[in-house]
Amino acid sequence: MIKFAETIIIGGGISGLSCARKLKDNEKEFLLITENIGGRIISSSDGKINYGAYFVGSDYGYVKNFVKIGRRISIFDIKFHNKKNSYFIFSCIKYLLQVIKFISILIKFRFHYNNMKKKCETMSQKEAIESDKYLFELYNKKADKFIKDNGVFDFVDKYLGEAFYALSFSKINEVYSFEFLRWMQYFIFSIYEFIFLKDRIINGFKKKIVFDSAVSIKQDKLFYNIKTLNGKNYLAKNVVVATSPNISKNLLNLKKIKKPTNCYMYHVNGNIVDNFHDVDFELFHEGYELFNLAYQNDGSYLFYSNHPNINFYKYFKKYKILAKKYWNPAFNIRGNELLDCEIKNNLYLIGDHNIGGLEDSFITGVYAANRIINLKS
Ligand SMILES: Cc1cc2nc3c(=O)[nH]c(=O)nc-3n(C[C@H](O)[C@H](O)[C@H](O)COP(=O)(O)OP(=O)(O)OC[C@H]3O[C@@H](n4cnc5c(N)ncnc54)[C@H](O)[C@@H]3O)c2cc1C
Repeated sequence: MIKFAETIIIGGGISGLSCARKLKDNEKEFLLITENIGGRIISSSDGKINYGAYFVGSDYGYVKNFVKIGRRISIFDIKFHNKKNSYFIFSCIKYLLQVIKFISILIKFRFHYNNMKKKCETMSQKEAIESDKYLFELYNKKADKFIKDNGVFDFVDKYLGEAFYALSFSKINEVYSFEFLRWMQYFIFSIYEFIFLKDRIINGFKKKIVFDSAVSIKQDKLFYNIKTLNGKNYLAKNVVVATSPNISKNLLNLKKIKKPTNCYMYHVNGNIVDNFHDVDFELFHEGYELFNLAYQNDGSYLFYSNHPNINFYKYFKKYKILAKKYWNPAFNIRGNELLDCEIKNNLYLIGDHNIGGLEDSFITGVYAANRIINLKS
C-alpha cells in the first residue's frame, strides 16, 4: 500500500528536525523518514560527550532552544602545536597590528553574517548570500588570497592556520573566505560544549517519524514518489531532502557539491604524556597526524586524527579506546558551489551544503517549513 503525506522530510539531523518542528508548531501534516535522530549530533552512551558536532556559538539563537549549554571553550584554554613549537595565543602580540586588523575583519563579517541569517528565515540561503555584495565576494574568494590581500598573512599563518585546520580538518588554501571567517569568528566570540535535547525537539511528533532509508525520489504527475530501503512507497506533495550533502547529491541528481573533509574520532581514557597536560584543548598543525585533542570533564579525551592507525603511546602513558568513529564525510566545506533550496516545484534541499554548522543548517529547515506553510493549497 502506498502511504500519502502532504510533506515528507528525508533526514532527521538538525535541519530535518528543525523543519519538522516548525511544521508541527504550525499544525501542518508531515512524515519524517530518517535513519536516526540527530544525524551528525552523536554522543557517548551517557549522552555527555559529543562525538560529532561539538560546540555551539553564542550566536546560535535557534539551536540554543534545543541544547543544554556546557563548558565554555576559551581561546586562552588552547595550546597550539606546529612542527617547531608549542605556544599560546598570548604570543601573537608580536603581530599586534595584524591581530587588530583581523579582529576588525571578523567584526565586519559577523555584522553581515548575522543579517544574512535573519534573512534566511524567509529567503533561501543562496538568495541571502547573493543579496549581500560583501558576503557574496567572500563566498567566491579563496581564503589564502583574502588573507594576503588584507595584510594579515603572518598572524593567520602562525596562529589561526592551526586553529582552522584542527577544527575544520581543512587547510586554508582549500576553502573560500566566507567559510574561513565563519569558523574564525569564534576566535573572538564565545563557544560552548552542549548536550542535545533530542526529546525536546521531537516533542509531539514522535509518531510521525519512520526509521527507514530513502533510496529514490521520482516525480509522478502531481506528487513525488519516495521509495525506501525497506521496500515502502510514499507519495507526497512536498519533499524536503535533509540528508548530508553527499547523500542529497545522489537523491536529487545534483551536478556538483562542495568537496568533503573527513576525520577519525577516538574517545580515549588514559594518562596523557606531560606535553599535553596543562590545558583542555590542544590544536595541531597540518604536519601532525592529529587535528586536536580535547580534555573532557570526566577525565577522558577526544582525539581527532586524519590517520586510521595511531600509535597512542606517543600521547598516552596508558590508554583504553572507549569509542571510535570515522566521519566520512565530516562536512563539505571545500569549494564555492552555492545551491538553491527549491530544486524543483515543492522539492526542497536543506542542510549544510552551502554553509557548515548546526545553526545555519537549522535555519535552512525553518526556511523550507516557512515555504510550505505559506503555500496556497
Ligand atoms: C566531527 C564533526 C564535528 C562538527 N563540529 C561542529 C561544531 O562543533 N559546531 C557546529 O555547529 N557544527 C559542527 N559540525 C557540523 C554539523 O554537525 C553539521 O553541519 C550539521 O549537523 C548538519 O546537519 P544536517 O541535518 O544538515 O545533516 P546530518 O546531521 O548529517 O543529518 C542527516 C540525516 O539524514 C539521515 N539520512 C541519511 N541518509 C538517509 C536516507 N537515505 N534516508 C533517510 N534518512 C537519511 C541521517 O540518518 C541523519 O539523520 C560537525 C560535524 C562533524 C562530523
